[in-house]
Amino acid sequence: MRVGVYPGTFDPITFGHMDIIHRAAGLVDKIIVAVAANAGKEPLFTLSEREKIVKQEIEAGLPVSEAKRVEVTAFHSLLTHFCHKVQAKIIIRGLRAISDFEYEFQMTGMNARLDPGIDTVFLMASEKYQFISSRFVKEISLLGGDVSSFVSHRVANLLQTQFKKKSLENKG
Ligand code: ADP
Repeated sequence: MRVGVYPGTFDPITFGHMDIIHRAAGLVDKIIVAVAANAGKEPLFTLSEREKIVKQEIEAGLPVSEAKRVEVTAFHSLLTHFCHKVQAKIIIRGLRAISDFEYEFQMTGMNARLDPGIDTVFLMASEKYQFISSRFVKEISLLGGDVSSFVSHRVANLLQTQFKKKSLENKG
């Protein structure tokens, strides 16, 4: 069985991520969406919140036959160790424009050194989703803009709730 791991911060999951998962489902038998702790990025949502949101999006946004081949797991370890644990030899990443290239190129090189038995496969972002990034979605949502063409209405509502919660925490 061909197992692919799609790692990311998913803070929050966007239509761009969903498109990569959907397309990767055509290439591998099972996809493990690996939600990274990534504390260095100071995510807006906690790890367990992000994991839960990804699970909900997959259930609601993918055809049942695809969704049942997708697993969602949070992970804290080194990506290559995680791949080893779940017996995956393929890492899936999405590639937008040139800006992603250098970071992805370095990460792939490092991972290949750490475990030459694992290969990274890149899917070019679809034209429609090329410009979507979690970071900008958060900025737009924080400033009251419409994010409905970038994330589902569920995620858009969760963003608003999270910003309200954070602003109350800051006031308190
Ligand atoms: P990370 O912090 O690991 O970059 P992200 O959640 O930002 O995590 O992204 C996970 C993966 O999804 C990365 O390979 C990223 O390039 C890709 N990705 C993010 N947004 C898009 C998009 N709009 N289209 C295609 N790929 C994307």
